[in-house]
Amino acid sequence: MLEVSNLKKSFGQLEVLKQISFEVNKNDVVAIIGPSGSGKSTMLRSLVHLEEIDGGSIAVDGEFIVNDGVYSKPQQLKKIASKMGMVFQHFNLFPHLSVLENLVLAPKLLKQGSTTEHRERGLELLAKVGLSDKADVLPAKLSGGQKQRVAIARALMRNPEILLFDEPTSALDPELTGEVLQVMKDLAKESMTMIVVTHEMEFARDVANKAIFMDNGEIIESGSPSELLTNPKRDRTKAFLHRTV
Ligand code: ATP
Ligand code: MG
Repeated sequence: MLEVSNLKKSFGQLEVLKQISFEVNKNDVVAIIGPSGSGKSTMLRSLVHLEEIDGGSIAVDGEFIVNDGVYSKPQQLKKIASKMGMVFQHFNLFPHLSVLENLVLAPKLLKQGSTTEHRERGLELLAKVGLSDKADVLPAKLSGGQKQRVAIARALMRNPEILLFDEPTSALDPELTGEVLQVMKDLAKESMTMIVVTHEMEFARDVANKAIFMDNGEIIESGSPSELLTNPKRDRTKAFLHRTV
């Protein structure tokens, strides 16, 4: 469903992604792990065109966002990129908009469907993440875990085929991570296709069916999470896991 091949990206002299290639199939939950600065966020941001890559290809359902370094035409690009939704570490909610307004903003700006439809879908998704009673409050009134659940609901508004998460629980107090991980587990159970950059090794082991270890802009090792996390083959993976577990 998602094919990434030979992705390259530099910031000035710094090569951040060096020929990254991987595939995500429908219903996969892919956990991406790796040390700080290894290029995980840049990789996710490149997938949704928040970064322009320097070379390589990204295709969803066989349609190219970028083909051998050449981006598709804006309209096509928008259409394909909208098959992916993204959840950020720091929620990125609009502080001056209510929870429900945060959800309906993008579909409203894109003029997809009616206001009534947007509100109904928004309320449905807030119920799904357990926040029906928060529709009309401002984000500042929410806990971090609640904010992140709103961000997940917002990412689901346009019915993405793939959800990308960039360290969704890293900014949360430990007691709030559980509620966010639970929503993600529920989505996995409903066969949502997800790519999750995470330090939550337990989540990677229990929920993901694939794990990718990145270091220094490269995929060092990938495989089943239980295998990669308990029996890594490469020394760099071993060293990383030794530090974090
Ligand atoms: P972390 O675990 O800390 O989030 P990461 O694996 O997500 O790290 P990236 O944020 O992708 O790593 O960063 C990879 C490298 O690219 C780092 O060296 C970072 O300093 C650099 N970098 C990221 N964004 C930019 C930018 N906009 N301009 C210049 N350098 C950048
Ligand atoms: Mg990052």
